[in-house]
Amino acid sequence: MTIFCVARNYVAHARELNNPVPEDPVIFIKPAAALLTDNKPFHLPSHSQQVDYEAEIVVRMSKGGRSISESDAASCYDQVAVGIDFTARDIQNHCKQKGLPWEIAKGFDESAAVSDFFPRDHFGAFHQLPFELTQNGKVVQRGNVNEMLFSVEFLISYISSIFTISEGDILFTGTPFGVGQVHSGDLLEGFIAGTKLLTCEVRNRE
Ligand code: MG
Repeated sequence: MTIFCVARNYVAHARELNNPVPEDPVIFIKPAAALLTDNKPFHLPSHSQQVDYEAEIVVRMSKGGRSISESDAASCYDQVAVGIDFTARDIQNHCKQKGLPWEIAKGFDESAAVSDFFPRDHFGAFHQLPFELTQNGKVVQRGNVNEMLFSVEFLISYISSIFTISEGDILFTGTPFGVGQVHSGDLLEGFIAGTKLLTCEVRNRE
């Protein structure tokens, strides 16, 4: 199972981190060990002093392939979830400054929290789905699938022109404006169309 992710897929978020709005999708991959499911707690990694939440819509591939066209991509994913792309922002900023890869900032253990998956249109038309994240009960991020810079279909087509996609792979589709730091003791909750799907407690690693 591969965890594909896209960065800077919402204009307001690209701007909040002083990144240019990209011409091509910015794709990265997390290892399978990054996956955090079943509302398990997230443990802060010891190599970072600033881990941020990034709430994202996540889709699961029902069909794989290579060089999938944008029109065929629509029938290649059939499930949706909400997830958190935990990011060691201090490490990522260091990597960006030095022109180094991002893996240690993005792919560490438990960095890909995902709720249970539901049929794609379970909460309403996928392409209009609103989602949000709360931190200790306060809304910190609000987004909608219709605000993505690159559609899921375009992303699948683009990714499959470079990597073979397999059934069961998942795609983090990017985060909207409002990312922020998490601290031990925080309670993060993710919603799609007002339904709470994800609960994630932040803890120190023992
Ligand atoms: Mg992200």
